[in-house]
Amino acid sequence: RVKENGKDDYLLHSGEMDPVALHKLTLQHDLRKALLNDEFQLYYQPQYDLSSGQIVGMEALIRWKHPKRGLVPPCDFIPAAEESGIIVPLGEWVIKEACRQNKAWQDEGIPRIPVSVNLSIRQFSQRNLNEKVADILRSSGLEPRYLELEITESMTMDVERASQCLKELTELGVNISIDDFGTGYSSFHYLKNLPIARLKIDRSFVRDIQQDPNDAAIVAAIIAMAHNLSLQVIAEGVETEHQVHFLRSHRCDEMQGYYGSPPLCSEEIGKLLRDKLNRPAISVRPSTGNG
Ligand code: C2E
Ligand code: MG
Ligand code: MG
Ligand code: MG
Repeated sequence: RVKENGKDDYLLHSGEMDPVALHKLTLQHDLRKALLNDEFQLYYQPQYDLSSGQIVGMEALIRWKHPKRGLVPPCDFIPAAEESGIIVPLGEWVIKEACRQNKAWQDEGIPRIPVSVNLSIRQFSQRNLNEKVADILRSSGLEPRYLELEITESMTMDVERASQCLKELTELGVNISIDDFGTGYSSFHYLKNLPIARLKIDRSFVRDIQQDPNDAAIVAAIIAMAHNLSLQVIAEGVETEHQVHFLRSHRCDEMQGYYGSPPLCSEEIGKLLRDKLNRPAISVRPSTGNG
């Protein structure tokens, strides 16, 4: 049985297959196997309050612990997972694992902070996403306000649909943030109509604020706009003290980036959270003066 233009045909003749397509099929097959074999792991990157210096949140970032290739970053497999649809069960695993881990830390007595999880547009287009999230929250025992879902702006997003879906999620008590803000199809229509709690300024704007006055102006304007809309704002990819001072002087609420900490495995961040209990985790010195 050979389908004329189907996948079966491709597989039977894989010897003649375009290497790029073959690589993609292999990767998709490996991803399915990896999900069954429990080869994924979450790293967590702390988020810091810019006025107190305390860790006030963390973002869950997926890694693939590949038996041969070692730790594979998300850019090497998320696109294939999205294309094949594996992102739906994989994304569900991420939400489950992040909620389970956060609840375990809370039960240990670590100060309660929210965990952010990245959602892909494919998960977002599922009809029963809110029910899935509600089930996960119920079975993990994590209070909804300790889960945040990050979405990226996308051309393909149907604002009506998105708005309904996000409304259902926020009714559960979950917060929504816009990730990589400024890089996508960031129409004001979205900001006006979607129930968003915060913006994450993309790191491409933060990177050159010291050298590029246009980037500095854009970052300052996003912070001011967010606050005028009563949204929280966090800067991504913060690496230098200068960036911290700039963000603080423009009253940005929070920062995330290597200046504070890279993403850490659960053991490492668990240790950091226990150690930093009640102590400022990043320097809160003002930019001027000889301190
Ligand atoms: P993102 O959500 O914008 O995550 C931030 C990325 O920036 C992370 O890369 C993080 O390691 C990196 N980063 C953090 N601080 C700095 C810094 O100071 N400098 C620089 N240069 N980079 C920094 P990562 O972990 O490789 O993740 C890349 C992207 O993959 C994420 O971007 C997100 O879009 C996607 N992703 C990660 N985990 C998941 C997931 O569970 N589901 C989905 N759908 N996407 C995910
Ligand atoms: Mg993110
Ligand atoms: Mg981002
Ligand atoms: Mg991104």
